[in-house]
Amino acid sequence: MSSKYNLPRGTYDILPDVSYKWEYIIGVFKNTAKLFNYKEIVTPIFEEADLFERSSGETSDIVQKEMYKFTDKKGRVFALRPEGTAPVVRSFVENNLAASAGIQKLFYTGPMFRYDRPQKGRYRQFYQYGVEAIGSNHPYVDAEVIALFYTFIQKLGLTEFEVQINSVGNAKVAERYDQALIEYFTPHKDELCFDCQTRLTKKPRRLLDCKVKRCREIGQAAPVMLDYLDEECTAHFEQVKTYLNQFKVPYSVNPKIVRGLDYYTHTAFEFLNHKLGAQNAIGAGGRYNGLVEQIGGKSLPGIGFAGGFERLLLSMEEENLFSGEELIPQVYIVAIGEKAQAQVASIISLLRQENISVEYDPEKTSLKAQMKAADKIKSPYALILGDDELERGVVTLKYLQERKQIDLAISDLSSYIKS
Ligand code: AMP
Repeated sequence: MSSKYNLPRGTYDILPDVSYKWEYIIGVFKNTAKLFNYKEIVTPIFEEADLFERSSGETSDIVQKEMYKFTDKKGRVFALRPEGTAPVVRSFVENNLAASAGIQKLFYTGPMFRYDRPQKGRYRQFYQYGVEAIGSNHPYVDAEVIALFYTFIQKLGLTEFEVQINSVGNAKVAERYDQALIEYFTPHKDELCFDCQTRLTKKPRRLLDCKVKRCREIGQAAPVMLDYLDEECTAHFEQVKTYLNQFKVPYSVNPKIVRGLDYYTHTAFEFLNHKLGAQNAIGAGGRYNGLVEQIGGKSLPGIGFAGGFERLLLSMEEENLFSGEELIPQVYIVAIGEKAQAQVASIISLLRQENISVEYDPEKTSLKAQMKAADKIKSPYALILGDDELERGVVTLKYLQERKQIDLAISDLSSYIKS
């Protein structure tokens, strides 16, 4: 039977045979963030479109092509959030979080939306995890943010990944670098794609992020930002590396990393899994010292990262890291006879009050059908309720792996199973 309706292109359903994997990965992320004393922040799925247009930059792909924009009944223009940093910074400013002492260390998870060309590892609705540390320009914080990401990936057990870092300097350095790029690319202008021809006059650094083959080829020999760093930027970058060594995060320097959005300064980094094919970035981030002010707050530095859960799931499946099963109920209830079946809910409720997970299927009435079901879902115990036994206040607990069983008084049941 085919359904009358289909999923929107570029989206997916998380079905029960996969949802436990999601829950697991999200849980590991949240626990890792808490280990580093990051606190959760939740912002709406839509925001004023202008928030993203201003922060991401007019010439960014996100704003130019990928934003889901809509007008509400009062003519206000909103966008489904394409990324998580601008909303977190909007909330930080609006709620005056700067007033509380120290660096604000925040984490989030949730769906993001981009009108992208869907393919393996790239969707129109995708689920990101991310952190933002706002209020310090100290290189220690850069390294700690990278170490958090690294710890998370390690806790998942992934081995096929690589950490690459770079420095994209500050505004002054970027201006000199852009000039160098203009000089380099202008003689090739006619060979560049249409978008890059515009980038050349507006945001030359974006040329280096272009996915068109010819543009990439030309970009191969382009000047690299690292050669243009001033003393302050170089010192910052060196200290980040020193702290990364202390955190035991292996990394390589990739001078070609440029981030797609306007607001990045100093440290930029990517986590890659080369086995994933074209969409090999499992996450990326960087420092954004101008963003808070740009969004209307004080001039405060910040740094963060974001990654997609889908690519982690793919990576983990590739490395066969899901040995665990879906949630298995601890006890399968087998009720034989009308009286037992009529009283079954009170026994089930007793167990659930003690946090023991229970499965019972009222559609199955025979002993054979119920025992078969208990085996099938791999429950460790079957609890057999019979009419006569219940009258005596007794039930039978069957150990399904060991093939042994004992009779128990109902009053002792939950304490016995728990122990
Ligand atoms: P970005 O904000 O573009 O740097 O993205 C950060 C991370 O989010 C990437 O490294 C991916 O892991 C993930 N990501 C970005 N866009 C998509 C997408 N369209 N589908 C799935 N994952 C994505």
